[in-house]
Amino acid sequence: MFLDLEPSEKKNPKSHQGDFGRVFEVTPVFRAEKSFTHRHLTEFTGLDFEMCIYEHYDEVLEVLDRLFVSLFDGLNERCGDEIAIIGKQFPAPPLRYLRKTLILTFEEGIKMLKEGGFPDIDPMADLNTEVERALGKLVADRYHTDFFILKRYPAAVRPFYTMPDPVDPRYSNSYDVFIRGEEIISGAQRVHCAEMLRRQAERCGIVVESIRDYINSFKWGSFPHGGAGVGLERVVMLFLGLDNIRKTSLFPRDPKRLTP
Ligand code: ATP
Repeated sequence: MFLDLEPSEKKNPKSHQGDFGRVFEVTPVFRAEKSFTHRHLTEFTGLDFEMCIYEHYDEVLEVLDRLFVSLFDGLNERCGDEIAIIGKQFPAPPLRYLRKTLILTFEEGIKMLKEGGFPDIDPMADLNTEVERALGKLVADRYHTDFFILKRYPAAVRPFYTMPDPVDPRYSNSYDVFIRGEEIISGAQRVHCAEMLRRQAERCGIVVESIRDYINSFKWGSFPHGGAGVGLERVVMLFLGLDNIRKTSLFPRDPKRLTP
């Protein structure tokens, strides 16, 4: 599927004539994980997109901001009756979100956590589920929103194909998006240079030969690009304030449930 560019974004209309400016897919995702949690399924619906970046990966965050604000607005405007019915059976406070989505850097998040009850948190380690929840609460208290983006994660906690921050390579051009303190999206600017990909894969201990075709595909040239992966059932669960992802899937699949 190909997305049209907004008129205001046609900054360089000829620049991707031989390429697709923006693409997305909606597809079943199968994960062989030990998903014994309230938010993991072995089969879920993935919403993924990738887009050219002209100047800065914040362009991807702008798309995420517009996409989700209009998605939440649309749900509230068009599905009020259905949301109310679900709310009767599973009461939850309505999702709070800002007209312009709050974006914090990972460093800002760590600072809030240090001041908010986690003084010894490692500033370069990934956030575990408990800490993500705590950060969601701190953000909600301070900024009155249940929806926010955290960007510029430490490079060491992201995959090898993530673009490092050009100013400080200890960090990366990456982001996660949270609803009510739980991750719904992971994304990043991807490395589009074959040689750099090879170096980063080697550094991460990956056998380069095993991903040869992936690396070679970039030798033909590729635009700087970035994107994100969204889990639909998780968005629905958290939008409605449900306590388990299984409530959002007609036939939930987990390691112990294959039928019906
Ligand atoms: P988590 O840390 O929650 O396991 P992840 O880092 O493995 O997620 P990604 O691989 O980045 O997630 O996938 C992108 C998005 O897809 C997640 O933010 C989430 O919304 C969704 N997702 C990932 N794994 C699952 C799963 N097992 N069940 C349902 N949704 C999932």
